Amino acid sequence: MNGKELLEIFEARKARMIDSIIELVEIESPSRDAAGISEVAGKIETLVHDISPEFKSERISAGELGGHLLIRVFGEKADAGKLLILGHIDTVHPRGSKEKNPTRIENGRLFGGGTFDMKANIAVVIEILRVFIEQNLLPRKTITLLLSCDEEIGSPTGREIVEREAGSSDACLVCEPSADGKVKTGRKGTGMYRLKAHGIPSHAGLEPEKGASAILELARQIPLVHDLNDAETGTTANVCTIRGGTTSNVIPEFAECEIDVRFSKLSEAEKISDAIARLRSFDDRVALEIIGGINRPPLERTEKVVELFRKARKLAAEFDYDLEETQVGGASDGNFVGALGVPVLDGLGIRGSGAHTLNEFIYTDDIAKRATLIARLLLEL
Ligand SMILES: [Zn+2]
Repeated sequence: MNGKELLEIFEARKARMIDSIIELVEIESPSRDAAGISEVAGKIETLVHDISPEFKSERISAGELGGHLLIRVFGEKADAGKLLILGHIDTVHPRGSKEKNPTRIENGRLFGGGTFDMKANIAVVIEILRVFIEQNLLPRKTITLLLSCDEEIGSPTGREIVEREAGSSDACLVCEPSADGKVKTGRKGTGMYRLKAHGIPSHAGLEPEKGASAILELARQIPLVHDLNDAETGTTANVCTIRGGTTSNVIPEFAECEIDVRFSKLSEAEKISDAIARLRSFDDRVALEIIGGINRPPLERTEKVVELFRKARKLAAEFDYDLEETQVGGASDGNFVGALGVPVLDGLGIRGSGAHTLNEFIYTDDIAKRATLIARLLLEL
């Protein structure tokens, strides 16, 4: 079935996809909220099992973070290879956020926390599977849909499963948000550090000289961290939070800051982690403690990634959909997959905006087009 025919089918099912999106978004599932995560996973399982009794799902416990959801479909084609679809069921929005960004449609925009990032795309993938079954369309490869529950907090438990599933896949489609419709063929890698200073407290009026200020120490370290920014290589290092001290008349014993690091090449990651490890206190009565490190490797725009993008662009053109690519600073689980050498196409999600904010939405006129694009990829890869 060609793109134009499929697009017609998905356009006719748009209202149905919107209903499923709303159902998923209405269940609030912030990271670490095991109850919300489990509820949304249950909803997805119900939708998938309703399509075909052949479709199998599996929950993988993530302890107090909840659980990941693994769905394997079209397994009868096991010898023909495997495609991995990646997504996540957690959101950054704490419970109660839906009062501030109610799930609603206004002027062609479907608002709601976790619509754009990325529950709407889960609903779309489910509808694609339904269309495959109803229209008797068989993908060439087995499809595994992995929906993790801790992507938004750096995938402490999801990473292992992402890497395991990706390692046995021929290609990976990441249904994370697009960049204004553009797919992502490169993402920076990330590092997260916490720099702590342990000084000596004393009375700020009576005997300040006996104290060693943790805040002063951090204030001297921060410019060194910011010196690591390098516009040429695209490496960034920024102190994004800071706290310290107890009251206004005590030389502060403790202070800490969080450092966000981004880089396009692994060599840059090593350079920056060495530099942070080498930080030494200006006042030797203050002890510095550094925790954290490199989290996600960069998703590099390799030949394989470009080749996958070109295929997608060609499939999109079949139904007059113009697909462009871009490279961004934000990381996703696609970064782990890219590091294994598996071709990745990231940012396949519906056009929208406001990820991680209370103004998050998707454009409803892009739903059927994205569904068509992903369906064509699943059929042709
Ligand atoms: Zn996301």
